Amino acid sequence: LSGTVWPIHFLPFHGESLSSWMSRLAIHHCSVPSTFFAKTVPGAPDAWKQDLDVRSNRSIIEAISLRCCLSPLGVERCTIFSEINKVYIPSSRTTALPRWVSPARIRRQTKHHYGQKFCVVCITENSYYRYKWRYCFYVVCPEHHVQMLDSCQACGGSVSTHKIYASFFETFPLDALAYCDLCGFDLRRSGYETASIDDVEFVESILRIMRQGYAHIGKKETIYSHHYFQGLRLIARGIMKKECMVRESSCTDIPVLSRHAEIEFIRVSEIKDVMLLAQELLYEWPNNFVTFSRNNGLYYQDWIRPRDVAPHWFLKVAKMFKK
Ligand SMILES: [Zn+2]
Ligand SMILES: [Zn+2]
Repeated sequence: LSGTVWPIHFLPFHGESLSSWMSRLAIHHCSVPSTFFAKTVPGAPDAWKQDLDVRSNRSIIEAISLRCCLSPLGVERCTIFSEINKVYIPSSRTTALPRWVSPARIRRQTKHHYGQKFCVVCITENSYYRYKWRYCFYVVCPEHHVQMLDSCQACGGSVSTHKIYASFFETFPLDALAYCDLCGFDLRRSGYETASIDDVEFVESILRIMRQGYAHIGKKETIYSHHYFQGLRLIARGIMKKECMVRESSCTDIPVLSRHAEIEFIRVSEIKDVMLLAQELLYEWPNNFVTFSRNNGLYYQDWIRPRDVAPHWFLKVAKMFKK
């Protein structure tokens, strides 16, 4: 079995995503990630045809484990799969992205398909991607207090953790992941904005709820974290719907959010606005929510659709607004 271990097999950095780690390993072997994996793991399904950071095929996890001398559990810890049940209980039948996870550019080549976020300061310090950056609510970096970016500032395309702008380089620089794979722009030169204390506190509180596995609602209710996120999602969607109506009725230049857009598929700046308002409505539950619903003429059906599964803590308040 020793022959299967990759000649270079360093461990992932703290919090590094599986795709980022695999890409850096390939680069250290002077290869592009897709070729490297196909050559050294024959017979395994094409690792890069799936979203490695979200849900990986068991045989791929085991193949990586063997080649990097790290337990399968250690490999899985580089994916959000290992903790997604804190925010969402996925159905085994669905092939869609788990909720709260922004898409990565896997197959779609469209230039403007943003999604993968990054903190400019983090990648300047060390050019690797963290798996937590895939959560759509990770809108600011709590470590550096800066706003996350969701695309390349030079070409507007989404960044990729496993596609390398190969033609741009004569040799593979070890920091190849710090460059946009579409245009070669050095992402470390991106401009960025400082995050407000409120933004940082929001992200920290969300991460705390995930870690603990529970949240406090109102004065004395304690609920499972996935029930908290379930309600938060409905609140966020209701806010987005209301925002759509406001934008459609006013003739401003602000782009109209798609009526059917989910929180995972909008720009990071918009996610931030929606989430901050959602958190405000959760504060002193249910008083702020009740006032907001009354002031904006929002009813039960604006918050909960027929096929939604609403958690009890949210349902009992939303019912007050049944027509
Ligand atoms: Zn950072
Ligand atoms: Zn670019």
